[in-house]
Amino acid sequence: MRLDTDPYLERYAARVQGMSASEIRALFSVASRPEIVSFAGGMPNTASLDMEAVEAVAAALVREEGALALQYGGGQGRPELRELLVDIMRHEGVPAHADDLVVTVGGQQALELIAKCFVDPGDIVIAEGPTYVGGIGALSSHQADVRHVPMDDDGMRVDLLEEMLARLAGEGRRPKYVYTVPNHQNPAGVSLSVERRHRLAELAEVHDLLILEDNPYGLLDFDGRTWPSLRELVPERVIYVGTMSKTFAPGVRTGWVAAPPPVRDKLVLLREAADLCPANLTQMLVERWLTTQPWQEQVKRFRSVYHERAEVMLRALEAEMPAGVEWTVPSGGFYVWLTVPAGIDTSDLLAKAINHRVAYVPGRGFYGDGSGGDKMRLCFSYPPVERIHEGIVRLGELLHAELELVQAVYGDDIPDMRRRGPDEPGTQLGG
Ligand code: PMP
Repeated sequence: MRLDTDPYLERYAARVQGMSASEIRALFSVASRPEIVSFAGGMPNTASLDMEAVEAVAAALVREEGALALQYGGGQGRPELRELLVDIMRHEGVPAHADDLVVTVGGQQALELIAKCFVDPGDIVIAEGPTYVGGIGALSSHQADVRHVPMDDDGMRVDLLEEMLARLAGEGRRPKYVYTVPNHQNPAGVSLSVERRHRLAELAEVHDLLILEDNPYGLLDFDGRTWPSLRELVPERVIYVGTMSKTFAPGVRTGWVAAPPPVRDKLVLLREAADLCPANLTQMLVERWLTTQPWQEQVKRFRSVYHERAEVMLRALEAEMPAGVEWTVPSGGFYVWLTVPAGIDTSDLLAKAINHRVAYVPGRGFYGDGSGGDKMRLCFSYPPVERIHEGIVRLGELLHAELELVQAVYGDDIPDMRRRGPDEPGTQLGG
């Protein structure tokens, strides 16, 4: 058997043929070295959890209900947990009933099951541009044709979505659904304005659209504000995805979908085919966390941890970035989305950045079409405050040097390098 080529290549299903780990992915394995300040991984700050409380909850669970917790459960997820998740949704004003919910292995499994439920090869799914890497991964694994709608500081340009829908209708095509992360979006760090939410809901009615509303960061607004959900506006047209990863811990791998009953039933069947049922152990851990601990206080702590880090990053960017670099100013969530001047390609720059002991995710990973070469995502949730400052200083030095180089090589005749094939940073970034 030859190992320089993949000996199984001819046997793979068509949906797997195009999947391959990119060079970018290899670089990220280096980015976790301690000397590197990594703004790459979208990782929650689990160190700020009350570990004694988690330990007490876990110990009591095993002691008091161990046999049940270590047993199989039902495919839809435990009714007790679903009731509590409905209560979390109520904190953001999102209406739901426990019967509407399917518990999933994180929000990621929900995105994958929904893609599996609706997407045949070549089907169009509309997403924000940029959009969540794992969302693209779920869609590409079902060979969706992902079309991006540009964003600005108020989230998805719903006017451009309208134009796209009209164009598609002219070709006799309709998207299977519109995927959106309306709150503190990953990676753009912006939220969909209230006005645009209403317009999107209207468009959904006019164009008979299904919307996939993915909301991991809604409770992480730095000032504790919440936004009207799309599910609240057009419930029968929205499949809503939530997760405990950002309000508690990604390690419990507990997410959920709230869907209209016919879709919910299909999702339960698909998830039973994939993994039978969600883990009783972590479902029951989450139930105890929510019922015996002040979980809302923990969410407040997360908010202030992230708020502080965001401010440090934004101040450092102001001080350190060369002219021509632009970035979004988040009011919650984990991310700053940065645009570099023409002539710099963020995919190509990553190796140099890692050499300079700072890491980020190049923008191309967040588009299915290879655009985004002038963008990068900086995640402020994980590194300690002093490291954030240090990392931005390093990034500033690198960009200053790179701009000088670009000037020396191209003068005023700088080529446009924004488009080429997509990067695949993959899920090892933790989202
Ligand atoms: N959606 C978005 C927009 C995310 O950023 C993430 C995680 N980073 C997820 C879904 C999935 O997270 P999890 O599977 O941990 O719930």
